[in-house]
Amino acid sequence: MFSPFFKSICFSMIAMLVLSSGGVSAQDQLKVLLIDGQNNHNWKQTSPILINILEKSGRFSVDRATSPGKGKDMTRFSPDFSKYDVIVSNYNGDLWAEKMRKNFVTYVKSGGGFVCVHAANNSFPQWPEYNQMIGLGGWGGRSEKSGPYVRFRKGEMVLDKTPGRGGSHGARHEFVVESFDADHPIMKGLPKKWLHTADELYDRLRGPARNLNVIATAYSDSKTRGSGEVEPILMVLEYGKGRIFHTTLGHDVTALDCIGFQTTLQRGTEWAATEKVTLNDVPANFPDAAKSSSRSSK
Ligand code: ZN
Repeated sequence: MFSPFFKSICFSMIAMLVLSSGGVSAQDQLKVLLIDGQNNHNWKQTSPILINILEKSGRFSVDRATSPGKGKDMTRFSPDFSKYDVIVSNYNGDLWAEKMRKNFVTYVKSGGGFVCVHAANNSFPQWPEYNQMIGLGGWGGRSEKSGPYVRFRKGEMVLDKTPGRGGSHGARHEFVVESFDADHPIMKGLPKKWLHTADELYDRLRGPARNLNVIATAYSDSKTRGSGEVEPILMVLEYGKGRIFHTTLGHDVTALDCIGFQTTLQRGTEWAATEKVTLNDVPANFPDAAKSSSRSSK
């Protein structure tokens, strides 16, 4: 049998070989936990695609925590957030149990990353800390009591307290996503405008909108039954020492196949985890303002 010393030498040599091969070693990969299990969307179909999008970048290894079904006992569902660099939510359903909520708040407050994807911002209208993290949300009875709308006037972001519902969208269609903060690491180097594949353009979201920076917007045309306003599409937030990337995109497989969605999800997840973006390459087939561009991640 080999001595522990010999084993450790062998392990070091293997680790050096892995590192020198140019790939990202397991130690350098960011650990992601994706949460799903309830959603008014087809999470069984979209979660594996979200995981593939992240893992294909080589930067992440992703675990998955699937909750009990709607109406079932949630008290034993309590993943250990502390093992992860960033949590990605594809969850829209029953309120998490108190212990899990407390652990999640502690995790983000103390510097953990969080990524909120599409209908995850419909979740938990009754949970104040969650709404502070995501900044804006929709549906679930959200109204002026949830916070202001985010509006854009003369190129400036303003908070609008006009009473009204929180959350709606028009017909699914392709729409132009435009950088609002082109220098943010998540947006840097990407075309200023790119045509997103057919998706829901969330509009009239409401929430506390504190420590919120909008990094990309889209115009919600009343011709497609939208709000007639420029709407926040990609956002970053701070909560305690934690960072949040919030993408309103990603209704279904068509939306997830957009190379713009994939690139911003990868970069946004890395940013939430580390405050930096090393995934700087812009794919050659990145969409432009006139033409959307897709790649299957099944
Ligand atoms: Zn949707």
